[in-house]
Amino acid sequence: MSDGLINASERAAAQKLADALGLPAFEQGWVWLAGAGPGDPGLVTALGLSAIASADVILYDALVNEALLKLARPGAELIYAGKRAGRKSCKQTDISRTLVSMARRGLRVLRLKGGDPFVFGRGAEEALTLARAGVPFRIIPGVTAGIGGLAYAGIPLTHRDTNHAVTFITGHGADGKLPALDWAALAKGSPTLVLYMARTFAGEIAQKLIAAGRDANEPAAIVSDATFDAQTVRVIPLAQLGNAAAQSTALAIIVIGENVRLREGLDWLGAMSGKLLNPDPLNQRQLSDAS
Ligand code: SAH
Repeated sequence: MSDGLINASERAAAQKLADALGLPAFEQGWVWLAGAGPGDPGLVTALGLSAIASADVILYDALVNEALLKLARPGAELIYAGKRAGRKSCKQTDISRTLVSMARRGLRVLRLKGGDPFVFGRGAEEALTLARAGVPFRIIPGVTAGIGGLAYAGIPLTHRDTNHAVTFITGHGADGKLPALDWAALAKGSPTLVLYMARTFAGEIAQKLIAAGRDANEPAAIVSDATFDAQTVRVIPLAQLGNAAAQSTALAIIVIGENVRLREGLDWLGAMSGKLLNPDPLNQRQLSDAS
């Protein structure tokens, strides 16, 4: 149960903000499936925030920063619906059933998920259950870890001198195995690969990519606890990715590609604590001066 850290006048101010932005009202009997962003509470969207402040019940998963829940209205029911050591985990079917039954009771139900609800988070499965049950729902996108986490690591997802394409990959199939992707085609076709849930199989993925022609010295980065205060970033050559990933136990997003080099110049978080940046990380001063 939320103890409601926000007082009545602050609540009225939040409502004013929502009205000024023309945000939709959270109607009774609806389920809103929202992304909470990758960790830093500042990365939730305005609509996500407004949903947290007006929901009757919030089902949140393990990746959601619980600081956001302080904004729930007093008396709102907060239900943990994730998998985390030491806590009872919820089955996916139970979560979907709960969403349906609570909406049918006329509650405003917020399903809050880490990152973006439609990126490797089973949000589509939950939304389909709602669709089948005839429960009205809205999807509120969020900043996904593979984009926001990279930005906080100072690694741009794209730069025209390093990559014209990006592929988002899950390293963990529904059966717990490495998904049967065409790794050779990815090695050739996708200059930048962003891997979710890939710590276990990172070494195998790196081997497959190198076997298909990727340079063993190509840079890779492991961004752990991205956007949280505890964030760490480790940059290694592709050939060492497996070992480095095996040493990590944290939540991690992995990125492979020449764009990782740009971190030398763009690690803005590091710069805030005194790190010197290299403004020409691709060694192309003459090139960019000429353009
Ligand atoms: N829907 C989420 C992804 C869920 S899958 C999103 O859009 O971000 C869970 C995986 O996301 C984790 O195993 C990890 O690879 C990645 N992830 C999520 N949050 C992260 C964070 N703060 N730091 C690093 N990786 C994160």
